[in-house]
Amino acid sequence: MRFISLLVVALLLAGASTSASAQASGATVAQGRVAELIGNSKQFIPSPEFEAWYNEVLIACKRTGDCQTSRVDDFAEIVWFQYKDAAIPCGPAQRCDGQALIGANMIFLSPRAFYDRRVVKHEMLHLILGTGDHPQVFDFLNLGRE
Ligand SMILES: [Zn+2]
Repeated sequence: MRFISLLVVALLLAGASTSASAQASGATVAQGRVAELIGNSKQFIPSPEFEAWYNEVLIACKRTGDCQTSRVDDFAEIVWFQYKDAAIPCGPAQRCDGQALIGANMIFLSPRAFYDRRVVKHEMLHLILGTGDHPQVFDFLNLGRE
């Protein structure tokens, strides 16, 4: 586990030469923040429902015309983490139940959102769209815009 975390960080740092940061949940996240997220989380293997939810989001999003080309080619590319604390610090005085790291294809979930279909789908849509912003498609799919 320790080795895997270090490898992921190394990969992120290697990618940092072109962009100094990764995006997450509407904000730009510094590399130090990425390391902090990984260091305070435990990687897990998603249950089969997660892949079904991914396919639901992808199909629904394609129907809206907003994600003809997904930024994630395969559900298996997503790396899942559970954050150790009740909620994930995701901005100044802000706490989130989920956070997606675009480019790294990582999703972090708080313990209470660990199996929350809406939160999981919301974060997957960030990866599929390749943006930390919340375009209108989030509303269309009833996945919130926060
Ligand atoms: Zn979001």
